[in-house]
Amino acid sequence: MVKFVYDFSEGNKDLKDLLGGKGANLAEMTNLGLPVPAGFTITTDACRTFLRTGHGPDGLDTEIAAHLADLEAAMGRKLGDPNDPLLVSVRSGAPFSMPGMMETVLNVGLNDESVAGLSRQAGGNDRFAWDSYRRLIQMFGKTVCDVPGDEFEQALQHAKSSRGVHDDVELDAAALQELVGAYKKVFAEHTGHDFPQDPRDQMDQAVEAVFRSWNADRAVLYRRQERIPADLGTAVNIVAMVFGNLGPDSGTGVAFTRDPATGESGIYGDYLANAQGEDVVAGIRNTLSLHELEGLDKKSYDELLKIMATLEGHYRDLCDIEFTIERGKLWMLQTRVGKRTAAAAFTIAAQLVDEGMIDLDEALTRVTGAQLGQLMFPRFDLAENPAAITRGVGASPGAAFGEVVFTAAHAVEKAGQGHKVILVRRETNPDDLPGMIAAQGILTSRGGKTSHAAVVARGMGKTCVCGADQVEVGRDEFTVAGHVVHEGDVISIDGTTGRVYLGEVPVRPSEVVQYFEGDLDPAQANDPLVAAVHRIMTHADSRSRLRVRTNADTGLDAARARRFGAQGIGLCRTEHMFLGDRRSLVERLILAHNPTERRDALDALLPLQRADFLDIFREMNGLPVTVRLIDPPLHEFLPSLEELAVQVAVAQERGEEVEREQRMLNAVRRMHEQNPMLGLRGVRLGLVIPGLFAMQVRAITEAAVALAAEGGRPRPEIMVPLVGAVQELETVRAEAEKIIADVVGDSGVEVLIGTMIEVPRAALTAGQIAEAAEFFSFGTNDLTQMGWGFSRDDVEGAFFWRYLELGIFGISPFESIDRDGVGRLVRIASEEGRQARPGLKLGVCGEHGGDPDSVHFFHEVGLDYVSCSPFRVPIARLEAGRAAIESAGSDHR
Ligand code: PEP
Ligand code: MG
Repeated sequence: MVKFVYDFSEGNKDLKDLLGGKGANLAEMTNLGLPVPAGFTITTDACRTFLRTGHGPDGLDTEIAAHLADLEAAMGRKLGDPNDPLLVSVRSGAPFSMPGMMETVLNVGLNDESVAGLSRQAGGNDRFAWDSYRRLIQMFGKTVCDVPGDEFEQALQHAKSSRGVHDDVELDAAALQELVGAYKKVFAEHTGHDFPQDPRDQMDQAVEAVFRSWNADRAVLYRRQERIPADLGTAVNIVAMVFGNLGPDSGTGVAFTRDPATGESGIYGDYLANAQGEDVVAGIRNTLSLHELEGLDKKSYDELLKIMATLEGHYRDLCDIEFTIERGKLWMLQTRVGKRTAAAAFTIAAQLVDEGMIDLDEALTRVTGAQLGQLMFPRFDLAENPAAITRGVGASPGAAFGEVVFTAAHAVEKAGQGHKVILVRRETNPDDLPGMIAAQGILTSRGGKTSHAAVVARGMGKTCVCGADQVEVGRDEFTVAGHVVHEGDVISIDGTTGRVYLGEVPVRPSEVVQYFEGDLDPAQANDPLVAAVHRIMTHADSRSRLRVRTNADTGLDAARARRFGAQGIGLCRTEHMFLGDRRSLVERLILAHNPTERRDALDALLPLQRADFLDIFREMNGLPVTVRLIDPPLHEFLPSLEELAVQVAVAQERGEEVEREQRMLNAVRRMHEQNPMLGLRGVRLGLVIPGLFAMQVRAITEAAVALAAEGGRPRPEIMVPLVGAVQELETVRAEAEKIIADVVGDSGVEVLIGTMIEVPRAALTAGQIAEAAEFFSFGTNDLTQMGWGFSRDDVEGAFFWRYLELGIFGISPFESIDRDGVGRLVRIASEEGRQARPGLKLGVCGEHGGDPDSVHFFHEVGLDYVSCSPFRVPIARLEAGRAAIESAGSDHR
């Protein structure tokens, strides 16, 4: 029989898929003998059944009843017993952490009778009992019955203002009892029934609400953003309540075993006395640092430190922790391997190697290309010494500037119009997520590094400053230190230092980029981040099988990519070489009346092209350079049809001489295509315009011979675009081979000839095509376009949002390779190509070459290299190393 409920003593950390992260780790801590309140977990299986059918699986009720009975026996109390009630929390816990996205209900089991029992249990502490009850109604109302949270907030504000107090903790028992009455009224008005008094009924409803919260809008949005699969479901944890709101000797906190923002060694955390869990994370009151707890309760502090060390040793990683102190007794409510910034990920991975906890292979699996990408963003240049208007907590690093907006909706709207915005809020809550995604950065006036804003921003790699408590946030302006900042004014925020500036502060490049550029010697740089990046990248290179080349069309780009670690050029697009002042030569080519005129135009282009290639070959001396023959339709180099037609008509009207323009207009009309992407481009152009490819082949070969004559070692590879049939390639090849033989002479230069595989037919006839190709390079941009039938220039804006919403794909197939479809074409072509020609060199030069997930796929398929834009080269190198470790069957992850 399938089991749907597990006691904490039955699970372990490896059962995340079934018990969710929270449940699995609570079980792990229980088994480590740490002080975890008793409880049990309802599995994600049960949730999936509920979401599918609208009710829990058969037998779930009975299983819950049995585990509840065990829990009651362990605690010596019955759920909601009027005299001595057991209270429980009902907590979500998905397989992947989704901070603040899912629901939790605390104090379940309280009702009009058991509130008195709870007070007695707490030594006659009426204030505590009523505070717990009002929290239950508030959380239950919001979570289970969709009562608008503001209504409860207003009643709470009213209670405080009518008594002239500022903080929740200043409300006495009578005030809280009255507040319970007000909350019940709010509840009944919105739901049409009274607040449920039966404790088991409360629990069952809370469990179902947690199940349902899996599909709440904000959770769906978060999953999409974080690429978490939609069908996992959440587990639910039922945990005996322990209380942080029993008075000044109680409290609740969150802690990290290392600083999650910088990676610095040493514990870090926030503590709030006399409060319950959600108060800390919601940033409702400003918190104390963990070190201040030492002064308040040394015994608990020492125990906490010991537990943190145990957990780090056990998980061999940074852990984050939620804990509660109930009258001097420490309880662990949660732990997990903690989220961290990109900088912290690298720094911590290197530290753990130094501390002997992990090896370098594992360190490599602990960082990602996406994180490396974040570190390559620029930061503020403070040379001008701009004065900060205030300083908050640097919660998520980076430099961001933009127009101030005060609501998530405005953030979305303005960003949609192309504005950069900074979302300014007192504190954020999960409803702000769309605005946080749309904004460049987030500034809050309340909450610490563990507040909602901080945790979510870090997860997204978005700049965030929080807890800037001098900032008074109003409806459409904020004030700080005598400044009034209106909606639409520009500010700059520094997520590392926490500083906030008026206006736009200039930015400077990251140290990591400077390191890659060779401007920083990692041995001398005393920046631990640069040292960590250097060490991990060096290890990645030593492990990777895939080589990483770059897409570069100029000597400048080639040189930069080489500094970034590129091992050659995988795609040199030649079309830009036909622009600028060379346009007139292209026009001459297109308008040529006869072969002589055409040859003259090509002869004029030849030396220019030769110089282009020589420049690039020099920069890549000794490394392979794949030059692609011209690809786009030639009319892209001519004026637009509309503009030209108007120009000719106006000139004719004025009686001016228009013979040349008229010829051009005729040519543009003749060449106009309804579907240029499927028209006269690539190899087709080479077959139709005599001499065009020949000129390029000659220029490439002559440049290579020139470099060889200088003592260099050119390794040119000529690539033919858009081939769909082997006959196309054979025709181009025959002509090219003659030219190459003619030019190369005894220079020793070797020129390879290969093709792009970017038309589905080419992929499906790769065995034939390989007979005429020494290498394949997958053009996954066109292969995706033609594989899906998606116009690559139009669809992303037109309808991809809907496809993403419907889950047809989780990410644009132009961004990350569609393994099942387009990826299959790559796989077939690789296998059949290599069968026909063993040793066939295989690479990819579409955008996917720099996408982390896709790099892993290309490794699996057995390509020799990926090629990507210079800036992505380090990312691809890192991922190539990770892919090699993963496929070597490392069980480190
Ligand atoms: C491709 O199609 O993937 C490719 C690299 O060529 P382009 O983007 O120039 O069409
Ligand atoms: Mg292409």
